[in-house]
Amino acid sequence: MTAEKGISIDTGGGQKDAQPRVCAVCGISSNEARWHVSDALLHTAGTFDIVSCTGCGTLRVEPLPPFSARRESFTDEYPLFDWALGRKQAVTDERIARFAPQIAEINRRRHPGRLLDVGAGDGYFMLGMQTRGWEVRGIELNEAVAAYAREQLGLDMTAGAEHEVDWQGPYDCITLFGVLEDVDDPNACLARCRENLADGGLLVVQTHNIASWEARWFGPDWFNIEAPRHVWHFSPPTLERLLKNNGFRQDDLLHYGAAFVTERSIENRRRRPFPSSTLDRMLRKAVVAPAAKLAPRLGQGIMIEAYCSKQEGGGQA
Ligand SMILES: [Zn+2]
Repeated sequence: MTAEKGISIDTGGGQKDAQPRVCAVCGISSNEARWHVSDALLHTAGTFDIVSCTGCGTLRVEPLPPFSARRESFTDEYPLFDWALGRKQAVTDERIARFAPQIAEINRRRHPGRLLDVGAGDGYFMLGMQTRGWEVRGIELNEAVAAYAREQLGLDMTAGAEHEVDWQGPYDCITLFGVLEDVDDPNACLARCRENLADGGLLVVQTHNIASWEARWFGPDWFNIEAPRHVWHFSPPTLERLLKNNGFRQDDLLHYGAAFVTERSIENRRRRPFPSSTLDRMLRKAVVAPAAKLAPRLGQGIMIEAYCSKQEGGGQA
């Protein structure tokens, strides 16, 4: 924690941790308090205030916890590390199948070339793309998880935060699954995407949807609030605006559902496991599972995924 100040304080134009912080989407600092939350997933220390931008409605954690503290909040117990850290047996085909929609969508839109996955986790998405003919590279925050991808899967994976690592572009495709909500400065991250994306390349950004019915229903108990790891919460219009501000044209926005998110949100709200009774199991089958399938079709997915091209003449690249 000794390096905390060195990492978090920015002397630049007020875009990062300098006071006052501004909204990444519309650039104003004016905000109103929404919720006071703690880490419901991993129970790391601290409580956090979530505010809503009065200009565009983007939610953010305010003040922004130092990056060093957020990095530490990705403890070994983080569920997405289960396979790399040996808590769950990884069956390669099953792990790759989790990314089947994204693998199909990208290959439908672009011929194989160079791909960079930012926030790549244990690397199974990269492995799936590699088998489709792509030359893949990844960046993963957790060193042990990155080592798993290198040593067990033979992948070109660099450990570190996206802002610490040389991206080594250009790429024909850059993917950010669950990254933009974690970074200090989404604009700086998207500027790196633009710099490292070849002309005609594809950028894919997946994040959770704070405007979904489910997010509105659960509010501070929603699983994806996930403070202090998630520090930004976007909606379909604010994500598109952010992308446009950074020189990207959003060609498509796909919606996804996930029953486990609903189930964990129910647990957060009532403070006991779900399902834990016969009634719960009936509810799960009759309501939770069908809702996860239906919501994306109604434009209410809890996850949104933008497929973007470089806007001609936009940005600096
Ligand atoms: Zn705003």
